[in-house]
Amino acid sequence: MTVEKKRVRHILSLSGGKDSAALALFMRDKVPEMEYIFSDTRKELPETYEFLDKISNYLGKPVTRLNADLGFDHWYEMYGGMIPSNHRRWCTRALKLKPFEQYCGNDEVINYVGLRADENRSGYISHKPNIKAVYPFIDAGLVLRDIEEILRVSGVGMPPYTKWGRTRSGCYFCFYQQKIEWVRLKETHPDLYEKAKEYERPYEKTGNFFTWSQGESLAELEQPARMEQIRTEHIIRVQRKIERRENVTLLELFKDADTGEESDDDDDQGCLVCQL
Ligand code: SF4
Repeated sequence: MTVEKKRVRHILSLSGGKDSAALALFMRDKVPEMEYIFSDTRKELPETYEFLDKISNYLGKPVTRLNADLGFDHWYEMYGGMIPSNHRRWCTRALKLKPFEQYCGNDEVINYVGLRADENRSGYISHKPNIKAVYPFIDAGLVLRDIEEILRVSGVGMPPYTKWGRTRSGCYFCFYQQKIEWVRLKETHPDLYEKAKEYERPYEKTGNFFTWSQGESLAELEQPARMEQIRTEHIIRVQRKIERRENVTLLELFKDADTGEESDDDDDQGCLVCQL
């Protein structure tokens, strides 16, 4: 009697960020049966879709888009107008993790995660027993510079939003953004800034008022004097970094500056599902 071997699926979830993109390129010829997916919150930056198309062209395979049955606005209402935050992160579970788990079903799945060897962050990954996470960059000892090199050599390049100084993938209104990134969003995509602002309103049923950025509303943050102050503080931080360190890439520099003294969250780890 022959025992049928259970099929194992190999799935790599792209976030729109550089690490998962580089991992997809890195794994292309190693696991030809890889399934590439992207959980689309429908609140992504427009640049993310361009980037996914470039990755898909390089892979010679489509990137399957997953959409949660119920979108961000539904859950925003359900949570009483509660804007998500690091401590109230209902969005990742509802919009990223759940569609991924539904896509996997009960199949045995190896989930490829783009965590690097130079990172020490934890975050949301699926803990379903049929889904096993693996970390090829950590296993291979690859760090940020290697990831940048993989993207450069492939011609895919860095995610387009890095050109205007955003360091994170994910929703345009992601609460993980630092103050300077909100300023850049306002300068680059004023329409998206306005849309983000619309969520900051007292919820009529409860009177609760939540903000995306800690300590101030987007209406306050966009005041010219406040934006100028944020820009100035950011430049000072970058200059301090330059004085203290040599041999850092521009991205490392900006990332460090953005996650340094100004960090507006007590856990600035970002999100393994949305921002790798
Ligand atoms: S990118 Fe940010 S706002 Fe969007 S689902 Fe992820 S954690 Fe939530």
